[in-house]
Parts: sequence; structure tokens; C-alpha cells
Amino acid sequence: MLKKLTNRVYYMPHYSKTDRPTLGLICGDTYSLIIDSGNSPAHAEAFLHDAAKMNIPPVMGVIITHWHWDHTFGMEAMNALTIGHQETKAQLEYMKTLEWDDDSLDARVKKGEEIAFCGDMMKLEMPDRNHLKIIGLDVTFHDKLEIDLGGVTCLLQHVGGVHAKDFIIAYIQEEKVLFLGDCLCPDLYSGEWSYDYKDLNRLLQLVKPYDVEYYVSSHQNPQTDQELWNDVNELCEMGKFVGDEKSVESAVKRFRMERNAGPTEQQMEDITFFVNGNQKRDGIF
Ligand SMILES: [Zn+2]
Repeated sequence: MLKKLTNRVYYMPHYSKTDRPTLGLICGDTYSLIIDSGNSPAHAEAFLHDAAKMNIPPVMGVIITHWHWDHTFGMEAMNALTIGHQETKAQLEYMKTLEWDDDSLDARVKKGEEIAFCGDMMKLEMPDRNHLKIIGLDVTFHDKLEIDLGGVTCLLQHVGGVHAKDFIIAYIQEEKVLFLGDCLCPDLYSGEWSYDYKDLNRLLQLVKPYDVEYYVSSHQNPQTDQELWNDVNELCEMGKFVGDEKSVESAVKRFRMERNAGPTEQQMEDITFFVNGNQKRDGIF
């Protein structure tokens, strides 16, 4: 069963053991819309199976938030119009040229073209990838796109960011729900995992103006307005603290001196990611 978030918004919760992201379903009077296609045909089929038990209007299409495998490998199985950013389309065209068997995947991880974490998760979610077919986008846009589902409007906005340049967010206006996907996640694809404090602030300026009751992120449970901004403020506090620091050791030393306590596990992770971001800007990686 899909979970009900608001009157018109449902979701299938994320599943961290095989990195399945949250999938959304928006039901208008005329059409339904799916947010993200899942990380395998099996994931997409499980979602469609649950959706079929509900009395919903015809599915107009599936929104693809960004190109990462866990959001796109279920595209063919969704069997619907695919909608997303033009850069996502370009990236999918490239992914069509790749082989996804274990040997090819391992070789790309070795060369640094694929992340070990993603490779491991792909193997767990989909041990046999012989029949995996990457498909492209049917509808693309550059900056914004508005979709009228009948009584419910879905506003798509390109926000980009360090996690993925093609990133789009989906705002369900009448329901005050904002699908953030992974847009506030760190950069996983260029060397050590990292945040860029300036870019994070740029993203937050784009996200903030929306009037939101629930935020839906891909790899955690939906959050209320207060819950999300508590987390974001803590993250920003660490970004501000790290400043231009390029060494984790000296950042932690300063933290202990200023606060008379060691950083928590979460703070330690945030510090490390922001320091990594500073090093990347300086081309240390
Ligand atoms: Zn992602």
C-alpha cells in the first residue's frame, strides 16, 4: 500500500538496504503523476502494483528528478510518458551507451567513473541486469514547467546543485508538498563526498520561497516544515563554522576549543563534507 501524505499526494517509502528512493504519486481530477521511476524494474512494478489497487485517474507521466541510477532504472517498467530536465535527457543518452554487467560496472568503479556504493547497491537490488534497458525522456524543459492535473498543479523547477547539475524539484501547489529528491544531498560523484557551502545557500534560496507543509526527500521519510529546516540549519551552521578550512583535523581542533565538546557523529560528517568541498574548489582532488 502506498502511504497517504495529503489528500492528493501518496508515496512509497524509501528502502535503504538496496537504496530504493521514495516514489511519489500525485492525483488530480483528470490525471495522476508519478515522481521518480525507482532503482529497478522490480521497484517500479511494486509501485505500479500498489497504485493499481487505488482508484486513480490515468497516469499522465513520470517525473525524473535527476539522472542517478536509483531514479532512472525503473523508467522503462513505468510504461509512461517520461518528463524531466534537458540535461537529464543528455545524461540518459550517455547511460544508454554503457554496459551494466558486473565486470563493466567493476571496471568503471576502478576507473573512478562509478561510485563503489552505487555499484554495490545495483548488484543487491538487481543481481541480473542483462535485460536492463535505459530509456530517454519524452518531454524536457530548461527552467520551469507547470503541469495541470485537474484541481492540482505540479510546478517543476530546475535547481541543479552539487549533487546533480540536472536536478529538478516538484512543488504540488494546492497540497503544499515539495518533492526535494536528493537536491540537498552532498556531491557523491567527484572524489570524496562533499558539500559546497555557497552552493548550498544558493539552493536554499531557491527552495525557501515555496509555501510548504511537507518536504519529501528521496532517502528519508517525509518531513514537516519545522523538521526539515531544523536539519538544514544544523547543516548550515557547520558549513559556516568550517568556513574556508581545508583540514578536518584543524576544524575539529577549533570546534573542541570553541565549544568545549567534541563534534557529534553528524557534526563530524558535516565538517568532513564541507572541508572536502573546500579542497575540491582548490583542486586538491
Ligand atoms: Zn541522486
